[in-house]
Amino acid sequence: MEQSALTPDELQRYARHLSLPEVGIEGQEKLKKARVLLVGAGGLGSPVALYLAAAGVGTLGIVDFDRVDVTNLQRQVLHSTGDVGRPKTESARVRLHGVNPHVDVRTYDEALTSENALDIIRRYDIVVDGTDNFQTRYLTNDACVILGKPNVYGSIFRFEGQASVFATADGPCYRCLFREPPPPGLVPSCAEGGVFGVLPGLVGMVQATETVKLILGVGEPLVGRLLLVDALRMSFRTIQLRKDPECPACGTREITELIDYEEFCGLGRGATNGSHAASDDDEWGDGVREMSVTELAAKLASGDEFELIDVREPYEHAIARIPRARLIPMRTLAASVGSLDPTREVVLLCHHGMRSAAAADFLHEQGFQRVWNLTGGIDAWSEEVDPGVRRY
Ligand SMILES: [Zn+2]
Repeated sequence: MEQSALTPDELQRYARHLSLPEVGIEGQEKLKKARVLLVGAGGLGSPVALYLAAAGVGTLGIVDFDRVDVTNLQRQVLHSTGDVGRPKTESARVRLHGVNPHVDVRTYDEALTSENALDIIRRYDIVVDGTDNFQTRYLTNDACVILGKPNVYGSIFRFEGQASVFATADGPCYRCLFREPPPPGLVPSCAEGGVFGVLPGLVGMVQATETVKLILGVGEPLVGRLLLVDALRMSFRTIQLRKDPECPACGTREITELIDYEEFCGLGRGATNGSHAASDDDEWGDGVREMSVTELAAKLASGDEFELIDVREPYEHAIARIPRARLIPMRTLAASVGSLDPTREVVLLCHHGMRSAAAADFLHEQGFQRVWNLTGGIDAWSEEVDPGVRRY
C-alpha cells in the first residue's frame, strides 16, 4: 500500500474525518494539499480560519492590514483581549498554530490592492471573501474571475447575511449579481450600522463548509445560488442566480486587468464620501431613499402616481403580496429596465428590505431619479399595516 502523505500524528488528529466515507484518507490528503486564502481576518474570517485550520487545510493565507481593536472582540473570535493593538495577521498566526500546528499559515500584513491581488491570489486554490467593503469585494471578485479561482463569498449587515460561491468555471460571479457598487455613503458600514455579534459566525461557518466541500469535491456547492440568512427569524433561504452573459467580468470578459476600485466605488480622486453637491433634481438629493410601510400605506391611499415593484421570487409572491405591486424578480430586473419609466417615482419592496435595497441602488445607477426602498419589506407591511398579508 502506498504511504499516506499524512503523518501518524495527523492520522490520529483527523480520526473523525477519516471514518467519514466522504472524507477518508484521500479527502484528508486533499485538505492537506489545499491552499486557501482568506481576505480579511475579521468577523467572517475568524470562524473560517479557525475551522479550516482545525479541519486540516494545509496552507492558509491571510490578508489583513488591520490591528486588533477592543470593539472587534464582540465577534472576531480569532483574536483575544491580549491581542488588542497587535496586527490581526500576527494574532491569527499564533492562534491558528495553537489550533493545529500542522497548518502552514502565511500572512500578508497589508491591504489587498490592485497591485498585489493577482500575485497573492495566484498562489492559492480557493479564495474566501471576508471583506467588509465594496472596493475589496469587487477587487477580490475580479481577481478570482481573471485567475479562475473559486470565490467563497459572505457578507453581513446587522441581522442579515448572504453567502454564495462565485467565479467557478460555470457559475456566476459577484458582478453578475451586483454589476456596480451602490453610491458611497448609501449603505452604512458595519461600524455605522452595527452588526449582531454571532451573525458572522453563522455566515462564516457557511463559507468554511463550502470551502471544505469544494476541496473534497463533495455535495452541492452554493454555485448559482445566493443564501440569505436572517438571524432574527432564523430563516435560511436560497435564491437562484444566473451567470449574466453581459457581466463585464465573467460574461463578456472585458475586465482583463484590475482597475482602481477606490475610484470605481466612488471613493477615489475628486469624489466625496457621502456628501454630494446639490444636483438638479430639486430636493430629492443624490441616492435612494427609505420609505416606511406606513408611509407607503398613506401614499397608496392618496392615489399618488408611482410604480410599486416587488423584486421577490414568484413563489414568495404566491405566499403573500401587496395589491398593486408589480412583480419583477430581482434576477429579471436588469432585463426589465427598458419597460420602466425612469422619470417616474419608484418604490421597491422585497421580503425584508435587503434585496430591494440592492435593486433600488441598481435602478438609481440606471438613471432613475426618484427611487425608494421599502424599509422592512412585506414583512413589516403585514406586521404594521395589514395583518391579513401572510408572514413567511
Ligand atoms: Zn459575472
